[in-house]
Amino acid sequence: MENRKWIREGMQDMPVIDTHEHLETEAARMAGRKDFIGLYMTHYASTDVLIAGLPPEKMALLQGGRLDVQEKWAILKPYWELCRNTTYFRALQRASIDLFGITQLDDDTCLQLNAAFLQCSRPGWYRQILKDICHIRYCVLDDLFIESPGDIKPPDQEFYRESAKYDLFLDLGEGTSAAELMGAYHRSFSTLKEYVRLLGDTVQTAKRERGIVALKSAIAYQRTILFENASFSAAESAFDRIMRGEALSGAERKPLQDYLMHELLGTAADLALPFQIHAGLQEGTGFDLRESRPANLISLFRQHPGVRFDVFHTGYPYGYELAAICKQFPNVWADLCWVHVISQEYAVRVLEEMLEVLPSNKILGFGGDYIFVEGTYAHLQFAKENIAEALSNRIDKGRLDKADALGLAKRLLHDNAEVLFGE
Ligand SMILES: [Zn+2]
Repeated sequence: MENRKWIREGMQDMPVIDTHEHLETEAARMAGRKDFIGLYMTHYASTDVLIAGLPPEKMALLQGGRLDVQEKWAILKPYWELCRNTTYFRALQRASIDLFGITQLDDDTCLQLNAAFLQCSRPGWYRQILKDICHIRYCVLDDLFIESPGDIKPPDQEFYRESAKYDLFLDLGEGTSAAELMGAYHRSFSTLKEYVRLLGDTVQTAKRERGIVALKSAIAYQRTILFENASFSAAESAFDRIMRGEALSGAERKPLQDYLMHELLGTAADLALPFQIHAGLQEGTGFDLRESRPANLISLFRQHPGVRFDVFHTGYPYGYELAAICKQFPNVWADLCWVHVISQEYAVRVLEEMLEVLPSNKILGFGGDYIFVEGTYAHLQFAKENIAEALSNRIDKGRLDKADALGLAKRLLHDNAEVLFGE
């Protein structure tokens, strides 16, 4: 307990590099959110509420702008009571206490919290949270609000570095049509070779013109992350059928997607771009966790030794599996982004295990993974508590020198990410 306290205090003003965020722009935030419930129910906690039993159409009311905050509270209240034990909800409670001064949310404080929330929702709020309070040098941003993939503006470099996603290329014939891609990138293609060239050129241009620092794939939300070695001809035949307008099943499109993933990783290696990939738990309801476990990625790790893989969320709940994989591959990093707000207990356990088996430069200790900055704030507090607890436990067990604790903490919060993503 003693150790935990001074380690936590020693981390208070440490610089942080946040490996993964989805933050909407401050301008969009200020224009779009009229009450704290709409904000708090953007993601994560909303999933707990749905799991607890709220019908989806009622969730849409909480997220939308038709009801006032008291009407929303009347719907949310019983679910707040049921869910407030979860880490997602405790993160919201932490934000409410530390940022808005509301300790307990109830019928009386609901309006107070909303008033405090509206008071803070003005330009400068992001700077206050991300810079003044959190000391985040930059966040690696996976922008979820891109309107046109062919016309992306680089994010504000004072706050962010860009991680670029190209899952839409793999989504050809399902979520993305050939015509959409040709329109977005102002380039036509009719053969697989031309398509692959467009993908490679697009990534190169993004690095040259926007200075992207990583690639990202969230394909685990759509299909298995087991990528096989599809031949060019198998990929080509699926591609040609899609171009003829045929509707292919997931299994029929898989060889093309598998082929494209290997091509994309070849480009990542050529351009020395780290590859961030979602593994484990998906946000939302009804996904197949079995398809996203980190062991599915082993064939990619083997075949692309020149790519530095940043595996997200420790593959929750498969963190022990990921630790063992990282122990076998110099090109694989374990990233605790999102993890500290999924489960503090798990985060501490898995971090202790990782420190037991991995060189300390292979663990990325924090990525907020929020759309709203209040979440990032609370997440960072939890991350620091969890790191302090894991290090303190190791000191107590005689497995870590006190003198090494803060150096390790800084590596987890900042230095390892700086090596991977740059200054
Ligand atoms: Zn994310």
